[in-house]
Amino acid sequence: MPTDTLPQPGKTPGKPAGELIRLERVTKRFGTNTVLDHLDFSVDAGKHVTLIGPSGSGKTTILRLLMTLLKPDEGTITVDGQQLFPASDKQVREIRKKIGMVFQQFNLFPNMTVLRNITEAPVTVLGMSRDEAGERARDLLDLVGLADKRDARPTQLSGGQQQRVAIARALAMRPQVLLLDEVTSALDPELVAGVLDVLRDIARSTDITMLCVTHEMGFARDISDQVLMFDSGRVIEAGSPEKIFSEPEQARTREFLSAVL
Ligand code: ADP
Repeated sequence: MPTDTLPQPGKTPGKPAGELIRLERVTKRFGTNTVLDHLDFSVDAGKHVTLIGPSGSGKTTILRLLMTLLKPDEGTITVDGQQLFPASDKQVREIRKKIGMVFQQFNLFPNMTVLRNITEAPVTVLGMSRDEAGERARDLLDLVGLADKRDARPTQLSGGQQQRVAIARALAMRPQVLLLDEVTSALDPELVAGVLDVLRDIARSTDITMLCVTHEMGFARDISDQVLMFDSGRVIEAGSPEKIFSEPEQARTREFLSAVL
């Protein structure tokens, strides 16, 4: 597999592998609903961190804050040393370039080929030449097992294939961090494994930082360096996958896992 064109943030020369993301006392409310409650956590460059917990516990809200799609009511969020709020428009654009996100719904551009879906942002946002972007897109399509689909339209692909294109599209921007928001939840069950295999491969073969919200506990156990268990907008337990899945300390974590496993 070609790895030279893939994101390798921890291997950037002169860049110390340290903390990439930090949330400090982050509070987010929707009306009277306090969704995140003085939340603290950090993610080191190159690590794979999985957020688990019941529906409505605030996991997706964290990803949306990191993407600057939402603003916190209190607290600070820092990505690669740059504070997100307040930040100038230019700073926000720079931060967004460092973050790739894949959503539950694939959101591909329906009127563009697969290749064009992947090359569009590198050309228009990063100013890459069409040739270079096309070459990288072909490597990424190899990585996600869709080399033969480059000229197809999204509607000609299965949901699992569309999601793999969405992953390639996110990686094409060479982000330092990949945010994955329940990326298999909208898929038919038989298509889930193919997408998770691609993500396992990316986790293994690149040193991109990953922050995943998932209900796929087997996947979380395989790829995570750290698992954070959420409940009501707080991290109630954090640790290695071995600890969280085999010896959880909190009764709430045990209850949650017995319901989903
Ligand atoms: P999770 O990802 O853990 O399922 P979310 O972060 O999606 O949780 O949601 C946490 C809570 O915030 C839920 O109660 C949800 O209804 C609420 N919420 C999320 N987004 C909005 C919004 N845009 N407006 C109002 N409430 C919202």
